[in-house]
Amino acid sequence: VDEYRDAALGRGLARAIVAAVRPETRYNLMEFCGGHTHAIARHGLEDLLPGSVRLIHGPGCPVCVLPVGRLDMAIALVREHGVILCTYGDMMRVPGSGGTSLLQVKAEGGDVRMVYSTLDAVAVAQAHPDRAVVFFAIGFETTTPPTAMAVTRAEALDLRNFSVFCNHVLTPAAIQSLLDSPDVRDLDGGSVPLDGFIGPAHVSTVIGARPYAFFAEEYRKPVVITGFEPLDVLQAVLMLVRQINDGRAEVEVQYARAVTRRGNEKAQALVAGMFDLRKVFAWRGLGPVPYSALTFNTRYATWDAERRFALPDAAGRDPRGCDCGAILRGVKEPRDCRLFGTACTPEKPVGACMVSSEGACAAYWTHGRFR
Ligand code: SF4
Repeated sequence: VDEYRDAALGRGLARAIVAAVRPETRYNLMEFCGGHTHAIARHGLEDLLPGSVRLIHGPGCPVCVLPVGRLDMAIALVREHGVILCTYGDMMRVPGSGGTSLLQVKAEGGDVRMVYSTLDAVAVAQAHPDRAVVFFAIGFETTTPPTAMAVTRAEALDLRNFSVFCNHVLTPAAIQSLLDSPDVRDLDGGSVPLDGFIGPAHVSTVIGARPYAFFAEEYRKPVVITGFEPLDVLQAVLMLVRQINDGRAEVEVQYARAVTRRGNEKAQALVAGMFDLRKVFAWRGLGPVPYSALTFNTRYATWDAERRFALPDAAGRDPRGCDCGAILRGVKEPRDCRLFGTACTPEKPVGACMVSSEGACAAYWTHGRFR
């Protein structure tokens, strides 16, 4: 990836941005992906930009946007139903209500296992035919096809002890929720509207560029889908600045080496054949968002852990003093949270944004963005 981290090219792009911005214009750009947030913090990209260009972090971290209630439901699967719960590593350290994490549940004797892929969870179910095994599925459109693949595999193997606790969420619905939100982003002590979006990279490899056209056409917000390297992000900022200057609102693909207009249609068909839209799903930070998440359709209902174990919805309690919700809406920054770097650190996280490798608080802490 060295060619995307070339310092001379980066300085050239930064100079082009400085030359392009207009003195009377502000450019408030939201990146919708935790990978972008980390790239920005890691490479100090904000320091290269003129003061009129503001990068606002959005709800792009899949671990962070899962509300506490859903984590409490996963904990109930282990404690009350005695299942083997398989999940990705980040999810194990996120505090649920009362600060209890899946790691603590494991320490108490609960059977919680970290997996690296959905097929690892299927293998656990194969190895333990006498135990119920649940895969705790989270994430945006990028991680949904692997979950669908695991169910397809489990069905082929007739693994009736396997099921999925489905928490897959949809990016476009969250962007619309942000644009419809009455929030005032007073990051500079004044109202800060959103002028454009740095669109997610991995998600867009699956869904393509088409779903963002709505935001360009209906909301007049430019979108540039962008890769994770520093030159990618700087080039996207330049493209957005030029769109705003020209009064254009278009969907452009900076990450052309991986993203097409139509996306991965095979993965889309796999997901469409297995899942329906939920009428509403509560996000951490955004609250209830209509048609923003997936659930198994009738044909695949038997693989749905929520139905199999008749799991009631849990309300959940956010950690006291934690500003994750406001950070995920882009109305606060990690440094605004009074627990940042004091009561809350990666070793002892209070909120999800400090746990996840894609969380904004973890990005600021890891890369020393304290001021
Ligand atoms: Fe929550 Fe910790 Fe971030 Fe504060 S620093 S918002 S407590 S995760």
